[in-house]
Formats: sequence, C-alpha cells, structure tokens
Amino acid sequence: MLKFSFHNHTYYSDGENSPEEMIAAAGKAGYTHYAFTDHIYSEVFEDWTMDYRKYDEYVQRIEKIKKDCEGAIKIYTGIEADWYKNHATHFSRFEQLRPKLDFVVGAVHVLMPCNDIYLIDGSAAEYELCLHNGYAGDADAMAADYYETYLQMIEGLKPDLLAHVDIMRKNNLDGVYYDNNAPFIRQYRKQIAEAIKAYDLVTEINGGGNYRYKNDVWYPSDAMFEELLKCEVKMTVGLDAHSVDMLTSYYDASLLKLAKAGFKVIYYYEDGEWLPIKLNELI
Ligand SMILES: [Zn+2]
Ligand SMILES: [Zn+2]
Repeated sequence: MLKFSFHNHTYYSDGENSPEEMIAAAGKAGYTHYAFTDHIYSEVFEDWTMDYRKYDEYVQRIEKIKKDCEGAIKIYTGIEADWYKNHATHFSRFEQLRPKLDFVVGAVHVLMPCNDIYLIDGSAAEYELCLHNGYAGDADAMAADYYETYLQMIEGLKPDLLAHVDIMRKNNLDGVYYDNNAPFIRQYRKQIAEAIKAYDLVTEINGGGNYRYKNDVWYPSDAMFEELLKCEVKMTVGLDAHSVDMLTSYYDASLLKLAKAGFKVIYYYEDGEWLPIKLNELI
C-alpha cells in the first residue's frame, strides 16, 4: 500500500533527527514515497533554517540515502522555500540550490511590513510584536498581507507543493484578533484555491498543526478545505515531520481528515508528476 509524506525536516534545519534516522523510521513505518524538505537559509532566522554552506552536503547526503534505499522507498531531495514579500527568496540563496533539487515546497512564515521582518508561524508574543509594530494594531491589514504574500508566492515560485495554506490563523484560532469568517478572509480563501487550481499546483494536509494541538487544529482549516474541494484542488499529505515520532503519529488521522473534508482522490509524487490515488485505497 502506498504511504507518503512530501514535507519533512531533519536537523539540517529545525528537525530533531538526522536524514538517515528519518528515512529508517519512514521505512519501518511503511512509507513508499518521502521528500526531505528542510528550511532554506535565511540570514534573519539562522536558528531554524539550513546553513547555506551545508547545501551541498545536504544534497549529497540525501543522494547517498537514495542509493542505499533504492527500490525500497522513493526519496526526493527538496527544500521548504520561504517567500518574502516583494523579495522573492532573495534572502535565502535559493536560485543556486534549486537546480540541484527534485522538489520544492513553497511557504510563507514571515511578513514584511515596512521592510521589517516578522515571523508569523511563531508564538503569540511574536504575533503581537508584528501586529503592533508592523501594522499599528490593525489585525485585518496583517491578515490581508499574509494572504497577499501567499498569493504572490503561488505565482512567483510555482512550487511542487504548497505548504500549510492558512497557517496565519494559528494565533487567531478563536478569532481574538480578526474574524476568521469576515468577507475579506472568505474572499482570500476563494482566491487562493482558484490560484492553486489555475496553476495546477498541489497543496497538503499539514501535520504540524494537529501535532501541536492534538488533532484540534488542521492546516488547512475546514473553511479552506471547502474552497479547495470546490475548486477540485489536488491534495497530498505533508506531515511536516520534525522528528521520527511524527511520521507515525498523524498519518492515519490526516487521511481520515481528508476523507471527512470530502476528498475522494488524493495525489502522490512520482518521478516528476503527481498521480491520483483513491483515498479509500489508503485508509
Ligand atoms: Zn512551514
Ligand atoms: Zn515545514
């Protein structure tokens, strides 16, 4: 039976385990397809991104693992590329690395109001700092900027996989800062689903949220799932595993969540293309 996760980390960025440990755990858990996608270098966030001086080592190490595992598991050398609004991936020396990769995950973790940089995939304190210093407390403007940046990333990067579409809501789960169903947010959800469809790209059910929040929080949200389903966007599983235990903890729950959201077919990446598989053949 097929089993896949196309978004996973190692200790080259903010994961806990080595590439070898991750792939050994993936093999043991029965994975058939697996992508390494560590965070691309950022000079602003060196604590959780890969050192660009290690790019070649990272690529070579995964190439060796591919050879060692040949036939057992399909492995892809990838990166999670962070998009900086109006700066593409300027900060991350992305262009020198992209030709050496099989796979690119596109993500937005950072907002850049007034050319300052703030992490939005962080703590509530970091969120507040961004809100007050960057947007003068205007949470609607901050949310709008996130979705605009995401749309820019879809068009500008056209990655193989789009990561955690609406991760912006993680610090606004109960709508403290802005209304998660405000008309402008609904409009952005629709626009994003339509853009993903228009470029024939793929997005993921992401394991990061449910891992942290014990199955209560999913990326995408139910409302985003609805739009993705309406637009017939291709979905896959990106566990966003940062440790070996995440490879076993949330895979089945992710499939069940996709089924519950109404998807009948999902997609897996093989030799350069996304292929469909019926969800009920995986569950
Ligand atoms: Zn991410
Ligand atoms: Zn990630």
